[in-house]
Formats: sequence, structure tokens, C-alpha cells
Amino acid sequence: MKAERIHLLDLGWLGGDIGWFLPGAAGCAMTFSNRNPIRRWVEIPVSAALLRHPEGNILFDVGISPQAMNTHAKGLVEAFPIVRMSDENRIEVQLEKVGLRPKDIDFIVISHLHLDHIGQIGPFLEHQIPIVVQKRELESALYLLWQGKGGAYDFADLDGLRGAPWAPIHDHQFDLLDGVTLEWTGGHTAGHQVMHVSTAAGNFYTLTGDYLHMPEEYDMEAKGWLLSDAEEWHAYIRKLKLLHKARKGRLVMGHDPDLWAKYDAAPAGLD
Ligand SMILES: [Zn+2]
Repeated sequence: MKAERIHLLDLGWLGGDIGWFLPGAAGCAMTFSNRNPIRRWVEIPVSAALLRHPEGNILFDVGISPQAMNTHAKGLVEAFPIVRMSDENRIEVQLEKVGLRPKDIDFIVISHLHLDHIGQIGPFLEHQIPIVVQKRELESALYLLWQGKGGAYDFADLDGLRGAPWAPIHDHQFDLLDGVTLEWTGGHTAGHQVMHVSTAAGNFYTLTGDYLHMPEEYDMEAKGWLLSDAEEWHAYIRKLKLLHKARKGRLVMGHDPDLWAKYDAAPAGLD
């Protein structure tokens, strides 16, 4: 039995320099012939996905803490400030749109532990829902944070998760439910994973997490400053293209600036 529907949850907006996402001239880097490029500021949605599956409801990522501007490292929220956030963007409110409460979630899958992917985990903790993350991601986030080099990881998100119901996986690919495969990509962070979904309607989707922030990265086969390991990243891009050519799939990039022009947010869904 395959997944019935994917609902995208609207969890606010962040801003940032285009250079984080796109490389070289596309990212407004100086070049020999243009030494004074006009820098671009972009705003990107923060989203999550709720997968309704006969074998259990899966939540993929949980957005950014609405309090992050006050609780997180100054440098981090200066670089990636929340630019739009209201009560409507709380994850409980978004889940309500599809008739669910936090206790109705069976599995939480986290692409990686950056602030805008783990920030609203709070409402789920009392229900002991397994948090499926790559073992390498958990190790790497703590390894970096403990050296004071957390980048987009923040203690404010992870401190409260000591003893949480982590379900670390150490697999390149892991079939969580029928038609739902988690795949390690690395590249953006050491333990980054994406989620592939085959639906009952016969469609194939990849929820890219931050492996891809923007469609231009896919087209250019390159990424801006938010790249931790170029060799890992490049080892996956052609494979992803191959997979999508073969399966006629669709990519769902949770931070695509045009996300909400391409897909409707919950209660609408993708079959
Ligand atoms: Zn990230």
C-alpha cells in the first residue's frame, strides 16, 4: 500500500544573501569583468511535508522555531532572519488544516538538523514519536556545535533533545514504509538525507530537503556557500537526474522561492 497524499505545510519565511544558494556570478560573486555586482537578497519559504500513508503518518522536517530571532546565535539569525512568521505558521495550526494533531504523527523524518528543519519539534516530544535522522547527522551537528562552529546548527534547537526518541539510521538507503525511501546524500551537511515517495496514484516525488534549495541549483548542477562537501554533492546530482528521468518524477524543494506558486499548501495535497 502506497502513500495517499503529500500535504505541504507553510512554516514561515527566511531571508538571506543569494550567495548562500547559488555559486559564482549567479550568486553575485565578483568576476573580472564585473567587480561591483549588485548583491541580491532573497526570501525563501520554510516548509515541511506531511505524508498520509495507510501504514502511518510521516512528517518530513519541522521548520524553524518562531522564537529563533531571540533564542538563537545572533550571527546565525542575522544571516538567515525570519522575515515572515505568524500564528498561522505554527506546525500544530498547519496540521490542524488536515485534521491532525501532533499525537497523530507516527514517524518524524528530519532531512538534517539545521535551525530551519528541526525548530518546531517541541509539540511532538511528549508523544515519543521516533525521530528518524542519519546517525552521521547527529554526530556531525554535535561535533561542530561543541567546537563553537555550529554554522546553521544551534544549541537552542538541540539542547532540548537530549534523550529524545531518536531513531538514528546508518544506511545509504532505508525503506521506511511501502514506497517511502530515505536516501543519504551528504553534500549540504554530513548526514543530509532526502525522502522519495511513490504514491498510490502512481506519481513519484523527491522531497529534497536542503540538498537543493532552489531549482537553479539543479539546472546549474552547483550550489552556493551552503555546501559542506562538494564531492558528495556532485556524486548525487546526476544520480538524482537519472532517477527523475526514469520515473518522470517531481522534485519538491521546500525552500524554492516559487514553492507556493507551484504547489498549494495544506489542506491541499499532492496525489
Ligand atoms: Zn540546511
